[in-house]
Order: sequence, then C-alpha cells, then structure tokens
Amino acid sequence: MKTPFINKEQAESIIKQYPTPFHIYDEKGIRENARRVQKAFAWNKGFKEYFAVKATPNPFILKILKEEGCGVDCSSYTELLMSRACGFSGEEIMFSSNVTPAEDYLLARELGANINLDDFTHIDYLDRLCGIPKLICCRYNPGGKFEMHNQIMDNPGDAKYGFTKSQIIEGFKILKAKGAEQFGLHSFLASNTVTDEYYPKLAEILFELAVEIQKETGCKFKFINLSGGVGIAYRPDQRGNDIMKIGEGVREAYERILIPNGMGDVAIYTEMGRFMLAPYGHLVTKVLHFKHIYKEYAGVDACAANLMRPAMYGAYHHITVLGKEDLPCDRVYDVTGGLCENNDKFAIDRPLPELEVGDILVIHDTGAHGFAMGYNYNGKLRSAELLLREDNSVQLIRRAETPSDYFATFDFCDLFKK
Ligand SMILES: *Cc1c(COP(=O)(O)O)cnc(C)c1O
Repeated sequence: MKTPFINKEQAESIIKQYPTPFHIYDEKGIRENARRVQKAFAWNKGFKEYFAVKATPNPFILKILKEEGCGVDCSSYTELLMSRACGFSGEEIMFSSNVTPAEDYLLARELGANINLDDFTHIDYLDRLCGIPKLICCRYNPGGKFEMHNQIMDNPGDAKYGFTKSQIIEGFKILKAKGAEQFGLHSFLASNTVTDEYYPKLAEILFELAVEIQKETGCKFKFINLSGGVGIAYRPDQRGNDIMKIGEGVREAYERILIPNGMGDVAIYTEMGRFMLAPYGHLVTKVLHFKHIYKEYAGVDACAANLMRPAMYGAYHHITVLGKEDLPCDRVYDVTGGLCENNDKFAIDRPLPELEVGDILVIHDTGAHGFAMGYNYNGKLRSAELLLREDNSVQLIRRAETPSDYFATFDFCDLFKK
C-alpha cells in the first residue's frame, strides 16, 4: 500500500487555487528523511549529504535541505547559480560535472566549490583555465560489470563517467605535483539500487582504492564521496532501503579498511537525489477523457512533459485515485497524457478502480527526477510546484508557466508582443 500525503479534501481545496496538473512536495517527509540520513552517518565526523540539485532544482527545497545540514551537488552553471542564490558557498558545494564547459569550472572555482573531475584530460583543462585548487576530487570508473550476489546491478564499463584505475593513480600524482594538498575520491556505479548493500559495497571498493592511492602517491584523502544511486520503492510491493543499515554497512567497511590504514579522519560524503526527495513528491492530475478502442484509455491533464520517467525508462509510478482508495481495482487502464507520442503513458494495463471524468489522481514518487526532467514538447507548459508545509498550509514554490514563458525566447522580435 502506498498512501498519498494529501487526501481528497486537501487536494480539492488546493485545486481551487492551483489548477491541475501540479507537483506537490511534503516538507515534513523531506525533513524527517533528511534527519534519518544524518543519523545513519552520524558515526562519521565529517559526513555531509550534498543533495543532487538536478533531482529537484527548486530553491525552496534546497533551503529546507540546507536547514537540515545538507550541501548541494551541482553539475552545471545554472545549478551553481541557484545554489549560490540559496546561500550555499565553498565546501557546501560539490561540483560533479562531465563534459564541463570552461565557464562552469570558472564559476565553481569562484564559489570555492569542491571540484570533482570526471576525466584525466580535465586536469590539464582546469589547470590552464584557473589553476588546480588546493582541494580536488576525481571520479573513478572501475569498468566491467558491477555485481552483487551474482546479480548485475549496472554496467560501469559502458558508462561515460570517470577515470580508469591507471588514469586515476597517475591523475592524483599529477594533481599533487601541480600543488593540490587535499584529495577526494568519488564514484557512481549503479542507479536506483533497492538493496542496503549498494553503498557498503561501493564504499569497500573506494576505501581499498584510496588506501592504494595514498600508499602509492602520498595523496591524503579528505573525503570519499559515495555519490547517488540509493533507490526507493516505486512499487507498492517493494521493500525500501533501510538507511540505518546502509550507514552501518559503510561504517563496517570504514572500520575494516580505512582505520587500520591510519585513514580514520576521512569524511564520508553522499550526493543522493532520489532517496532524499522522490517519495516526498506527488504529481496531481485530473481525468479529462476516456477512450474505448482496442484498449481502455484514461486521459489525464498531465503528460510526459511533467513526468518523463515512464516514457523514458518504462518506469513504474504508483497511482492512487483520491477518494477511491478502498474500492477494488477491478478495471484496467492505460493512463495517458496528451502528447502526440504513444509512449506518453503514466501507466500501462494498470488495475485501478473505475474512473470518472474529474477524478483526481496522485502519481507517487515524483519528488526527484520528476518536474526536473520536464520539457516543452507539443507546446506543453511546465506545471506549478507546491509545498505542503508542516502546518498543512500550501505554498507556491514555482508558478506554472504561461504561454508568454513559452514565447519568451522570441523577445528579440515583435511576433508575440501585443
Ligand atoms: C544524478 C547524480 C546524483 C544523484 O543520483 P540519485 O540517483 O538521484 O541519487 C548524484 N551524483 C551525480 C554525479 C549524479 O549525476
């Protein structure tokens, strides 16, 4: 069972002011979860979660996370600008980018962010641009397949990110020779992992590598960044991750590998996006039309431009029909948006209670990589983002786009001025 954090009465009253579709976030859920994360890693003195801004790039969300002790993980110029506007600076910012333009590095350097290099060639690129900072991080890609208990989790050998092992050892030597004094190590090996063993396994790989690099190069590690990839239970029958167990697993590897090698002062960083936000966001949409052809379709006023994951990855997002939670799911629908793209389906062959025009649907787990992946195809406009505050009031944290936003980039000509 997945229970929405708003009920039908709340949704109806919100819709009077903010028409569907919209994304809504649960402040209480976000804060409680962030506190669990802090608690799970409290054993590590320097621990910091750098929220992956790309997951939910909204300044109101970033400020909540800042109050909970988080930093930010940015990968682009505008993400850096947003983070700066929210008051993040210096080592509160990780800059984990790839195929990085010069102006992005320059801004990251100006803000004093922890720069995480994605590639060996970026050592020279950064050095020529603005010199190597005293603290610098490199991203590792072990290649091959990443397996746990004989189950392939992901395929780093096919991933575009990071340095190979020999490159990273050579890279740290060069960075040290160029004047860097403190170092970070980073890797992201699998996405949306729903097992408590992912971080501990990754930690083991990175800790062993850090010991080896420190022995071979004399580079002293300030932090090891486990990056993102901790998943959530999108399906109601899945078991979610237990962050306390994950923290304990990382601690076990830390005590086994780093401490005996005199590296007990290394800080653990994370860059979770999905785990921090996904369950605490809903996409709220209304049923507009039905269509009875070779299949039964329920058309809603949201579309893939508001939530791309089902269209892009075939991802499952649970749907609750508000006010019909207790009715039997004895109908089967494809729930579709209105893009002229047949993959614009939030659900395929989904058992649901009998729907009526005007029913309010909650699409679950859209708090991360939801609104953020939105786009304007078919001239669809981005929706509003709302925040359900801890006192149950609702705050607009991004207004919905209007046609003039859509036409704003034609402001150099007179076509859309009246
Ligand atoms: C996307 C990304 C993250 C966040 O990933 P989640 O799966 O949302 O936890 C963290 N770090 C980097 C470098 C990323 O690209």
